[in-house]
Amino acid sequence: MVKILVAAPLHEKALEKLRSAGFQIVYEEYPSEDRLVELIKDVEAIIVRSKPKVSRRVIEAAEKLKVIARAGVGLDNIDLDAANEKGIQVFNAPAAPTQSVAELAIGLMIDVLRKIAFADRKMREGVWAKKQCLGHELRGIVLGIIGMGRIGTAVARIAYHGFGMKIIYYDVRRCPKDVEKELDAKCVDLETLLKTADIVSIHVPLVPSTKHLINEEKLRLMKKSAILINTARGGVVDTDALVKALKEGWIAGAGLDVFEEEPLPPNHPLTKLDNVVLTPHIGANTVEAQERAGIEVVEKIIEFFKG
Ligand code: NAD
Repeated sequence: MVKILVAAPLHEKALEKLRSAGFQIVYEEYPSEDRLVELIKDVEAIIVRSKPKVSRRVIEAAEKLKVIARAGVGLDNIDLDAANEKGIQVFNAPAAPTQSVAELAIGLMIDVLRKIAFADRKMREGVWAKKQCLGHELRGIVLGIIGMGRIGTAVARIAYHGFGMKIIYYDVRRCPKDVEKELDAKCVDLETLLKTADIVSIHVPLVPSTKHLINEEKLRLMKKSAILINTARGGVVDTDALVKALKEGWIAGAGLDVFEEEPLPPNHPLTKLDNVVLTPHIGANTVEAQERAGIEVVEKIIEFFKG
């Protein structure tokens, strides 16, 4: 019987799959590093989320460990070099949050264009701010997607089929022809995208080539009436340049779920701007995404030990 340590909350359906496949489950939520060093000794697999940290010390203490699974996407809490040196497999669930993040991106677009959060704040202050809340429709406007991968494509699908938006995109590789055809999407260079789009939505990973991809020079290319949506990673945008752009009106607004520094420090300049909607990195934070993430990694684990 394979003994597995579940070290973070996991959806009940995923736990049930492990039980039915005959795994012996040890459940302890977010153990400290010292405790994890003890627990890891005699298990063959461990499941974590963004916590706990599976450090080199933990991995070196493991005697039978074959699999580290992250019920989610980011692997920042796992020492991948240490796992690799010991030939330990690392699994994650990259597709699980796609729909949730895409829906949040669309939500932020509507929120910024219709000033929903601003209107709500004003209502609570007793102010009926109807005149200040003149908005825009999504229908017919140009959506520029930076990074037409899983999430970028899901956003484009909702935008095109649901709202009748026009889709242009920039990616280091072209998206499949059938998807381009389905969405009537045009591949353009970054400069054209920034100059043309009414909404720029970022969906690239944070890698050296995308660090501050959207900097002062790029923000100055955008239309004054355009808005920027970032649900990818904070580091893709130069925050200081964005604050300047929003304050000085080079762009009309922004919807941000991710930040260069998380949590966003209290009283950060972004929190002072009315044309910005902020959410605390909740893109993947849905019951459905968490359920899919749990099930996806559990299926990979079961497959691994079967084979
Ligand atoms: P993906 O790998 O399917 O798509 C990324 C796309 O970006 C690919 O098509 C790739 O070719 C393109 N790309 C890479 N480097 C590029 C560059 N320099 N210029 C232009 N295009 C480039 O990834 P995904 O599943 O769509 O996720 C996208 C990002 O969303 C993730 O990397 C992650 O940072 C972020 N994310 C955020 C949340 C959240 O909670 N807000 C949750 C999940 C993922």
